[in-house]
Amino acid sequence: MPILSLAMPTPLKRSFDYLLPLDITDLAINDLKPGLRVLAPFGHRQLTGILLEVKNSSDVPAAKLKPAIQILDSDPVFSPQMLELCRWAANYYQHALGDVLSNAIPALLRKGHELIDQKETRWRLSTEGKGLPEGALKRAAKQAQLLTLLQQRTSINTTDLSTSGVSRTILNALIKKDLVEKFASEAAAPTSPNNESDGTEEPLVLNEEQRIALNSVNIQKRYQCYLLDGVTGSGKTEVYLQLIAKCLEKDRQTLVLIPEIGLTPQTVSRFRRRFNCHIALLHSGLTDRERLLSWQSAKSGQAKIIIGTRSAVFTQMGNIGLIIIDEEHDSSFKQQDGFRYSARDIAIKRAHQLRCPIILGSATPSLETLHNAQQSRYQHLHLTQRAANAKPPLYELLDIRNAPMDEGFSSALLAAIKKEITAGNQVLVFINRRGFSPMLMCHDCGYVAQCHHCDARMTVHFQQGMLRCHHCEGQEKLLGFCPDCNSRQLDFRGSGTERSEQALNRLFPNTQVIRIDRDTTSRKLAMQELLENVHEGTPCILVGTQMLAKGHHFPDVTLVAVIDADGGLFSTDFRGPEKMGQLLIQVAGRAGRASKPGKVMIQTHHPEHPLINSLVNNHYHSYANQLLEERKVSGLPPFGHLALIRAESSNPQQPEEFLRALRSGIETNGQTVDSGSRLFGPLPAPMARRAGFFRAQLLLQADRRKNLHQCLKALCNIGEQHTLANKIRWSVDVDPIDMH
Ligand code: ADP
Ligand code: ZN
Ligand code: ZN
Repeated sequence: MPILSLAMPTPLKRSFDYLLPLDITDLAINDLKPGLRVLAPFGHRQLTGILLEVKNSSDVPAAKLKPAIQILDSDPVFSPQMLELCRWAANYYQHALGDVLSNAIPALLRKGHELIDQKETRWRLSTEGKGLPEGALKRAAKQAQLLTLLQQRTSINTTDLSTSGVSRTILNALIKKDLVEKFASEAAAPTSPNNESDGTEEPLVLNEEQRIALNSVNIQKRYQCYLLDGVTGSGKTEVYLQLIAKCLEKDRQTLVLIPEIGLTPQTVSRFRRRFNCHIALLHSGLTDRERLLSWQSAKSGQAKIIIGTRSAVFTQMGNIGLIIIDEEHDSSFKQQDGFRYSARDIAIKRAHQLRCPIILGSATPSLETLHNAQQSRYQHLHLTQRAANAKPPLYELLDIRNAPMDEGFSSALLAAIKKEITAGNQVLVFINRRGFSPMLMCHDCGYVAQCHHCDARMTVHFQQGMLRCHHCEGQEKLLGFCPDCNSRQLDFRGSGTERSEQALNRLFPNTQVIRIDRDTTSRKLAMQELLENVHEGTPCILVGTQMLAKGHHFPDVTLVAVIDADGGLFSTDFRGPEKMGQLLIQVAGRAGRASKPGKVMIQTHHPEHPLINSLVNNHYHSYANQLLEERKVSGLPPFGHLALIRAESSNPQQPEEFLRALRSGIETNGQTVDSGSRLFGPLPAPMARRAGFFRAQLLLQADRRKNLHQCLKALCNIGEQHTLANKIRWSVDVDPIDMH
């Protein structure tokens, strides 16, 4: 009797056996292929599983097996290659295959929804209707309006009908008169070109460096990873576009991964202007239906270019020819909860599996990627000059020790801002903290507003009249007095974007100040609208968080002001300096991208600090090499490998107890010593309590990846057997990029 082995969307790292659905036909049994979705009972629920194989027997006694409910697909939603990639990822990240697979498909498919039939009902004029002259049906105004609409467009659908304000009754009246007829057509895919200018833009004439980069990439069915290491504004995107053009000539698809949704409108319109082909988007700003349509058009091969954020790495494509990862250093490529994968690393694995070239592009490559390029595992391509004659920005450190400050701005900085605004330029003020102020303190009694659920302070959001915790959903009303002593002497310590915006409005009353952070851009299209103001080119001051650092092209920004560079210098996370360097260079890269030269002013209390000087004087590469030296000495990535096991519980002792059991379990086996791995902890997490949970972690370090994985597997096995395994929450993070 055939048995279905299914991967179910659960945290359990095993497959589940089911009998065939009761109503299945013999014919259907022959068509059962791995990768099909199968609806099956699971506890009291019904879940969508993925068929892994059809077996002849099960270890579970036949009497205990339940039949599956329904086979949901006629064609597998997972290709054999995608199944294999997901198996690899499940093993590499020590995560349940069922959950990996569930992450790899659009939400609607996960929920058991069927594929969307792209046929739609449309209406057009019948032969008789076409015979009517313009301006006919005068006596029935609405009917005349519909007639005109149909005369102008060859056909219409329900959306056209409702946007034109014509009711279904009017349509039916014309159908009854045999003037209009119904027909089925292929729905206009959301991916199709839809603008007159689409595909009309000519490629730019490349400069020497760009041409060398372009010609170095081999668009062939062969794996090779390239690092396109180009300073900000050096024309990396132009190189991508011309590579894609080569790929299109061979009728192959390109997958482009980009960091953030905020970037999408600009990037996408640039691609659309260049290519007159189907371009599918995959990002979290889409509805579930839009996502599924994009996914289908990628899988069918209809979409030639797929642009998406992290999870788009799992998009299946009939005929992939090239993968591009823009801003490969960006931390958004790493999923930080649930299935903690790196989209960049999975993409590289995928390129290898499918034998296609992959380009990692960045002005500030991650240390891992730089190291791989230095070891010749990746081919290193350089763009050292800004394209289009733009000059690199000039840096200046502003020593603010003892300087009089106005809401975080030194007078030297204010003078510089004023000078640029007066000259008709734009200024970007970078402060990596949203809200009004990160700390509320009572001047009379010393009370500090703390989150009740986390070891963290509440951030003041003045405009909303709220105190918010940036680590959990916690929020409360901002009171005008101290809850401990009722004093009204409240002191707001430190600045966030909201406070800087307010200060700038006061200091520059005649200049528009535009704030860009998560709070001002949460609404759909808000970012786009705010940026439209900037692109008009009138003098303005942009103030915002790292959202501003990412990929934007602001031709009229001539000054970038960094309010506080000191935080990153003293970070407890070993990646702190790397992230700070990348962020500063990226923000600085927004200055002087066009004909106007740019300047970057950085306020610091530590103007002699070697790291910040190295960054400002020698720029990213020597800074990065310096950090690589330090990593080498301490055996940290990319020289050593890390995995972090996190545990959390509402019980304060259990997380550490659980992790201690893991450690002692493996040490009695002698496994750590044998494999040359080291364990650190368990220790309380840097934020020991978050959202009401007590948190601890155990860090595993190994010089060789193989040893890391061996040891990690053993730790996970011990963990899964432990009595606390189901009582607490615990997770594994391989190659963690955030140690919190
Ligand atoms: P990056 O992606 O490296 O930050 P972009 O591709 O956005 O750089 O290019 C920066 C600017 O330079 C853009 O306005 C782009 O149109 C322009 N540019 C790029 N390559 C060339 C070229 N070969 N000739 C002229 N202008 C170019
Ligand atoms: Zn008080
Ligand atoms: Zn909190």
